[in-house]
Amino acid sequence: MKQQTLWGHPKGLYILFFTELWERFSFYGMRAILILYLVAKTDELNPGFGWDNVTALQLYGWYTMLVYAMGVPGGLLADRLLGQKKAVMLGGVLIIIGHALLVINGEWQFYSGLVLIILGVGSLKPNISSMVGGLYRQGDAKRDSAFTIFYVGINIGAFSAPLIVGYVGEVINWNYGFGLAGIGMALGQIVFVYGQKYLKEVGNYIPPKFHEGTKEPVKLTSIEKDRMIVLLLSFLIVVIFWGAYEQAGGLMNLYAKEKIDRVMLGFEVPASFLQSLHAFYVILIGAPIAWFWVQWGKKGWESSSLFKMGLGTIITGFGFLLLAAAAMETMESLTGKAPIYWLFGAYFLHVVGELCISPVALSFITKMAPAKFVSFMMGAYFFATALGNKLAGLVGEAAQSAGELTIFLGLFGFCVGFGLLLILFVSRLKKLTHGADDVDDNVVVVEPE
Ligand code: GLN
Repeated sequence: MKQQTLWGHPKGLYILFFTELWERFSFYGMRAILILYLVAKTDELNPGFGWDNVTALQLYGWYTMLVYAMGVPGGLLADRLLGQKKAVMLGGVLIIIGHALLVINGEWQFYSGLVLIILGVGSLKPNISSMVGGLYRQGDAKRDSAFTIFYVGINIGAFSAPLIVGYVGEVINWNYGFGLAGIGMALGQIVFVYGQKYLKEVGNYIPPKFHEGTKEPVKLTSIEKDRMIVLLLSFLIVVIFWGAYEQAGGLMNLYAKEKIDRVMLGFEVPASFLQSLHAFYVILIGAPIAWFWVQWGKKGWESSSLFKMGLGTIITGFGFLLLAAAAMETMESLTGKAPIYWLFGAYFLHVVGELCISPVALSFITKMAPAKFVSFMMGAYFFATALGNKLAGLVGEAAQSAGELTIFLGLFGFCVGFGLLLILFVSRLKKLTHGADDVDDNVVVVEPE
């Protein structure tokens, strides 16, 4: 495959980078003001729906769950009908129309806008991720670093959106905020359309349903089956990781608000401000972590995707150990509050863990899934993250009665335990990959016919 390159990567990667950056800008921007809009009183200067907190939280929970769960039909749509590129295109259009509807203040516009956004993200998110992998051939060492670059793009969108869309929505007008999020997606769509010339060879493939000239369905070979098994097992760790990590928006958010002394240099850091910290850290340490793994691998040390995912889960666990220490300090201190640096440290470890898991998993899926299922498996991955989010909500609720210290210690034990278990089985699980995860330009990959 001949591709034009820039800074060592195909130019198509940068097109996908900016498209996804803007899509995430619209997603996180809209998400940042959604709940605030729902609870804003109807007779305020900047009126909302006037809902109570519980109802608003319920809708928010369903929204964040469905938006990722829709990745499964979105992936199938690409694998069966449209191919990844057209599915991304369709997703972008739906997201833009969805936001345009949210600009109008009215109930049916709001609900149909939300539905279109859910369908749009479902169609765009897994398929654009699969396209990144499609730019690289099997065994190419650059694939993992491409996903890290892509992931940094995601987080530039995620970092800036709550600040910009949040300001416009909260201070000026909610509907303008939604509109701005939509403009973000429109910019992403323009980049994607403009960049088609760099994406000619990726995302077009629609796998055949039947063996050529027969009515016999294309089945999975035993190698493909093994790879699917190892992928599905890795999704278990994905649920656990996101279940722990996503405490950030709920339990840790409340914890920061109520039990952390957030005064720094005479200025009280708003709790919501800490919500941008993850994305900030990803932008800061994404490249160094990717570089670290390359050096580590060059030394011939264990650097398989599964090992990274296991280690990432353990590191995330240690983030909770810091929070447990904070919770102990909270109980002992006279003010009932712990210093903010515990949170800075915990979020940092969580992001180190995230970078060992999230971009690695996206890359792993594109290496491991048979071509005819790659987008479906990508969708299934996002479904696993949706379950993780749901789990996070349940754990957060449990903390209300069990207390934070117990929950933080529990999460520490859980993450470290599962991470170690995965690492223990790495060599056995690696056999099931049949060489597809090996990073070596001369690697001989056993390709199923
Ligand atoms: N923060 C990442 C993104 O927005 C991960 C989301 C996920 O996997 N659920 O793409």
